[in-house]
Amino acid sequence: EPTGDETDPAVAVELDGVTKRYGETAAVDGVSLRVREGEFFTLVGPSGCGKTTTLRLIAGFEEPTSGTVRFGGKSMAGVPPEDRDVGVVFQSYALFPHMTVGENVAYGLNFADPPEGTTRDERVAELLELVDLPDAADRDPESLSGGQQQRIAMARALAPGPDVLLLDEPMSALDARLRERLRAQVKEIQSELGITTIYVTHDQEEALAVSDRVAVMNGGTPEQVAPPRTVYREPATRFVAEFVGDNNVFTGSVVDAPAAPDGELAVDVDGGDETLRARTDADPGTAASVGDRIAFCVRPEHLRVASADDGGADESAAPAGENALRATVASAEFLGETTRVTLDWGDRELLVRAVDPLDGAVTVGFDPEDAHVIEVESR
Ligand code: ATP
Repeated sequence: EPTGDETDPAVAVELDGVTKRYGETAAVDGVSLRVREGEFFTLVGPSGCGKTTTLRLIAGFEEPTSGTVRFGGKSMAGVPPEDRDVGVVFQSYALFPHMTVGENVAYGLNFADPPEGTTRDERVAELLELVDLPDAADRDPESLSGGQQQRIAMARALAPGPDVLLLDEPMSALDARLRERLRAQVKEIQSELGITTIYVTHDQEEALAVSDRVAVMNGGTPEQVAPPRTVYREPATRFVAEFVGDNNVFTGSVVDAPAAPDGELAVDVDGGDETLRARTDADPGTAASVGDRIAFCVRPEHLRVASADDGGADESAAPAGENALRATVASAEFLGETTRVTLDWGDRELLVRAVDPLDGAVTVGFDPEDAHVIEVESR
């Protein structure tokens, strides 16, 4: 780990113990992060978790109360936004309505010269090409769709050739279909340029879809910083498990534990009479003994659900008698490929995915392999 004086050329942006207070509230609370050169890095979390403030600290619109923001190893303390070589795109497109699309993009160059050997017009044409709107130069911004306007806003932010691109919820004003298209386009533009990008969103699906790594934030601090797959498959905390992938989190007491670090645990779960089995992995953090308190999670698509009064018509669909619990269907949302079913289990809810319609009493089972141990509290 660095002492603070060393510089790692592969680190484009570093936050080192950064805190931002507004009166009593710490909007950002002791955040340390390193974003690598060329990386697509996403800050994701619920409203109020400090994503926007973190981005504003990186952009230089705010100064930290304590801690340091570094670009390429250099402290940015006191460096104003226009001297940080960042391009910023906000939620609202903020294009100038009285200028053409081309003039809007050229405006991005106002404080900077076009890259060596290009004229302003060439640079504008190049940027419009990049965002896949090559013929839009003379158009009125308001004649473009929301997604197209956001691509123009990106072109404008990229015009001076910044080192870092900062995107704050650029899709949140768009409808679901446009959002999906635009996020693929944003990702494409980012990989084509290889530009270090820091992206803010509250949408976990969006974060998983576009990022090299994500930081899942809660209460001003990242709880996990990892590639999307890791965050999805191996959530580090209960908060991450519930926020990403709608995991079902179970807590309980260990009543049987394997001798080896990886094996099956038997857990008397809270809120039900059932004993459920969960497989631990080789991670020493998840080693547990009899009597320990434990939390583990199972994703909705890993819970197998079958009607309780099926009479065992379909053996393969029915969960085995062991590692199963009894619940009742509370509500179901038909999503096309699957149905998202909410179950009442004791006084809490479980989320499952089902193919066939379900109603009434059900049994729910899962493979111990699909249970991921999050926390172990030794007795
Ligand atoms: P959202 O998705 O709703 O924008 P966020 O994760 O981006 O949320 P921030 O906007 O960074 O969160 O806000 C974090 C916390 O800091 C919130 O509790 C917010 O009310 C507070 N906060 C942010 N900016 C200010 C400010 N200028 N003055 C006072 N409090 C602020």
